This record gives sequence, C-alpha cells and structure tokens, in this order.
Amino acid sequence: MTIAGFNNIGIIGAGQMGAGIAQACATCGLDVTLVDLAQEQLDRARGVIEKSLGKFVSKEKLTQEEADKGLQRIGFVTDSGRLSDADLVIESAVENENIKADIFRSLDEIVQPQGIIATNTSSISITRLASYTKRPEKFIGMHFFNPVPLMKLVEIIPGMGTDEEVTRRIGELAVGLGKETSTSQDYPGFVVNRILVPMINEAFTALMEGVASAEDIDKGMVLGTNQPMGPLALADFIGLDTILAIMRVLYAGLGDPRYRPCPLLVNYVQAGWLGRKTGRGVFQYDG
Ligand code: NAD
Repeated sequence: MTIAGFNNIGIIGAGQMGAGIAQACATCGLDVTLVDLAQEQLDRARGVIEKSLGKFVSKEKLTQEEADKGLQRIGFVTDSGRLSDADLVIESAVENENIKADIFRSLDEIVQPQGIIATNTSSISITRLASYTKRPEKFIGMHFFNPVPLMKLVEIIPGMGTDEEVTRRIGELAVGLGKETSTSQDYPGFVVNRILVPMINEAFTALMEGVASAEDIDKGMVLGTNQPMGPLALADFIGLDTILAIMRVLYAGLGDPRYRPCPLLVNYVQAGWLGRKTGRGVFQYDG
C-alpha cells in the first residue's frame, strides 16, 4: 500500500502522539517502524494501540481482521538504525529543542537521502529544526492532534526551505490518512496552539488567582463556550509539560509578556504532575 508515494513510515517517540500516529498510518495500510529509547514506552504504546483498535472494532469502524493486520504492520523497536529505508520519518519525541536537534542530526545520517523528515512539534520553528539536517528542502512540520486516530486535523507547516513538492505530498498523505489539513506559516505555535495554549495558560492564571475552582473554570468554559472539554482538563489530556514547553516557545519567539507561562503551571510541572499520563495533573486519574 502506498499513499502519496509513501509506504515505509518511521516514527520517533512512542508517547501519546507517536502511538496514535503509528495506529493511523498502519490502519491505512502503511508499514510503520515505531522507535523509542525506552522498551517500557514501546510496550505501553502497543497496549494503547491494541485498546484503541478494540474500540474501533466494537464500534464496527474496523473489522477484527483489519485491526489485527494494522497492529502487525507496526514494528516496535529501540534501534533508530532500522529507519534507513524509511520514505518518511515523523519525529514525535518530547517538546524539547535540544533533544529534537540530536534526533535530527542522527536521522539525517541514518535515513536514505531521498527520505523526508517531518516533525510533529507543537510550536518549535520548523526552519530552525530543519537546520539541524542537511536536507531542509525535505523537512516539514506535520502537526497531528490528540487523540490522533479520532482528531481530523493535521496542520502542515513548511519551513523556509521546504520544497513545494514535499508540502504537496505531505498534504496528500494526511488526506490519505482520513484527515483534513490546514496550512500555517512557520511562526511560533503555528495557528492552533498560538490561540489555544494561551487560553489554557489563562485558565491556570485564573486558578492561581483564586478566581474560581478548577471545576468551575472548566464548567464555565464547557457550558459557556460550548467546548467539549474545559481548558484545565484539556491541559491534563495534552500534558502539562507540553503546555509549558509551548508557552516558553511562544514567550521566547514572540517576545510579548502576554505569553509569560503561568507560575502555577510551572509548579505543577516541577512537581511531576503532568496530567493524565502521570495519573495526576490539575485533576486526579485512576489507572
Ligand atoms: P510523550 O511525553 O507522551 O512522549 C514522548 C516520547 O518520546 C516518550 O515515549 C519518550 O521516551 C520518547 N523520546 C524522548 N526522547 C527520545 C529519543 N531521543 N528517541 C526516541 N524517543 C524519544 O509526548 P507526546 O505528548 O506524545 O508529544 C510528542 C510530541 O508531539 C511533542 O513534540 C509534542 O509537542 C507534540 N504534540 C503533542 C500533542 C499532545 O496533545 N500531547 C499534540 C500535538 C503534538
């Protein structure tokens, strides 16, 4: 199976997003190699994908056979050397520029010269990330949303040097995965996170100032603005470390004090209360 000329997809980072991207690609017939440093994360990702596929089967959106074949198309590995034949590698490791820079320098050596490198970064400059490789023309932002198997949007962010043909093919791939695309210029946070994340940060500021309880802030925003989830519950879902990292990129990149990360958000992250993925964020989660 090939979509937009892509068959063999590598994914770096088997966290919430990497697992979802792997599932979306594999159920559309693409071969996937999912790489993480930690075997434990790969095992967790397999479990998450199995559970999600099970839900698709029970809702009759996939047959059991399609779900089984999808899972079989994913290789779970700790060795990024296995990505040498990839047509496309989508990087989805933590939102930390130094870590991403090391990953791109190494991928540039590993991946075949015609291979494309994409990043699922939430906010970091695509042009700067591309500069860690010697192939800026084959480097692009492909920004998925959480949970990937359900969320319709992929933001496409070409860097300054990205080939138009690469942008076109990545858009075609996203559509082939059943998604819709919106294109953004390469500015901090692109479009969605530039608007969404400061709103979440403001919810933390309201909580810090005692304007209302976490429950009332979320209830107000759900019922008052028709959002499916309140901003604090959404922050727990995305990961408070990711929200803080995005605010720091917005603050540094746009230089405006209105993007200052809320000190309460910083405290939560320092406490290791990162949201659903650690069982505790603003709210507490069982299991
Ligand atoms: P996560 O913390 O759930 O997972 C990150 C994974 O990367 C972990 O499994 C970690 O072990 C792995 N990792 C770290 N360094 C690595 C390396 N050098 N090689 C291989 N694996 C490595 O994070 P996430 O929420 O999946 O976010 C991943 C990326 O996607 C970030 O850039 C984030 O900004 C972006 N993103 C997140 C969301 C969201 O809602 N969480 C949405 C869109 C984009």
